Amino acid sequence: MADTNLMSIPGQVDPVPVARDITPRADGRIDLMGLPKARIRELFEQAGLDAKQAKLRSKQVFHWIYHRGISEFAEMTDLGKAMRPWLAERFVVARPEVVEAQVSSDGTRKWLLRTPDSHDFEMVFIPDADRGTLCVSSQVGCTLNCRFCHTGTMRLVRNLTPGEIVGQVMLARDALGEWPKGKMDFAEIEDEAEYTADGRLLTNIVMMGMGEPLYNFDNVRDALKLVMDGEGLALSKRRITLSTSGVVPMMERCGEEIGVNLAVSLHAVTKDVRDEIVPINKKYGIEQLLQACADYPSASNARRITFEYVMLKDKNDSDEHAHELVRLLREYDLPAKVNLIPFNPWPGATYECSTPERIKSFSSIIFDAGISAPVRTPRGRDIDAACGQLKTAAEKKSRAQLDREAAQVQAANS
Ligand code: SAH
Ligand code: SF4
Repeated sequence: MADTNLMSIPGQVDPVPVARDITPRADGRIDLMGLPKARIRELFEQAGLDAKQAKLRSKQVFHWIYHRGISEFAEMTDLGKAMRPWLAERFVVARPEVVEAQVSSDGTRKWLLRTPDSHDFEMVFIPDADRGTLCVSSQVGCTLNCRFCHTGTMRLVRNLTPGEIVGQVMLARDALGEWPKGKMDFAEIEDEAEYTADGRLLTNIVMMGMGEPLYNFDNVRDALKLVMDGEGLALSKRRITLSTSGVVPMMERCGEEIGVNLAVSLHAVTKDVRDEIVPINKKYGIEQLLQACADYPSASNARRITFEYVMLKDKNDSDEHAHELVRLLREYDLPAKVNLIPFNPWPGATYECSTPERIKSFSSIIFDAGISAPVRTPRGRDIDAACGQLKTAAEKKSRAQLDREAAQVQAANS
């Protein structure tokens, strides 16, 4: 299916709309992955089923795809014998292609995945004693250029579709062997509240892979709705966290339409430093960002906002910075916890990680003010799976280079 919707691709700070480029399937079948039940029903009707059949079959197929992890219509055993090949001729349920799977010495797993139009992106699974967290990508590359982030050196290739986003969670369940087993029975549908960590490896999802999720809002929302749907993947919104570098105008909608936990990549407490290391700050400053956090729907003491703070030597890590951070969080009366992230190096990075003593001192100042400030243990560094190390092939090009290339294409087409 060709998708020619316009999506907003921001430049370093300014959005420019460009056509989305998704290659249609060569076999003409329609991919159901990432579609909601109502859309599947519509497609079944368009393919010739009557309204009653389309309603029933879409409910069954939806359940098989998202709740049971089944992609082959032949295995959907409660569909009529003739219905299964009929559907298989017209539809398909595709997963992203796995190009490579790596395992770190600490158990962290990283997958290199490929879209049907041959763009590579990554997802990471981080197992812990009491939980397992899947770090999901929202875009191939990123338009923003946070100076300490390897993904930021890539250009944005394109937004991932809802199918490619929910497909990551489904691939992880495939790899971990975690689909609910047993007979197909609608009475057995798990309530989202029943989904607990007991015995499960994948318990939490963080939208912290490649890309800025709030610059791909609609697709991220549609994918997470399938993840949270009790008849779908049935993971509670309390177990999902979306991290943003500070796309202020989208934060309210994120709270209202998705309702997941929010993490904000703050990383600096003065305009000068944040302008330098998180350039979106030039558009949406610290005060605006913190006000949007204070207004975030569903933020409460029970569901605090996480402020991520990467520790960069001699850049943002002084005691004064820590005191200023406390002051700001108090000024905006934010139910907050601070996550201190030791900087993860990558080839060509111009920063160094703060010393362990500096990180300790920074963390104690925040703790002493009554705000939790744990230091995140880097995971998967040996396979470049740690925060900020994800990167695939697409290099960022300068605006001048992009303009030259566009002019060449135009000249060739005229
Ligand atoms: N684009 C989103 C989510 C992806 S990045 C965002 O920026 O929030 C996930 C987290 O890793 C962010 O807090 C990001 O700032 C942080 N990060 C990026 N590069 C890093 C690096 N080299 N070392 C440590 N953390 C990094
Ligand atoms: Fe993009 Fe987030 Fe990396 Fe910044 S930190 S460049 S927003 S992925």
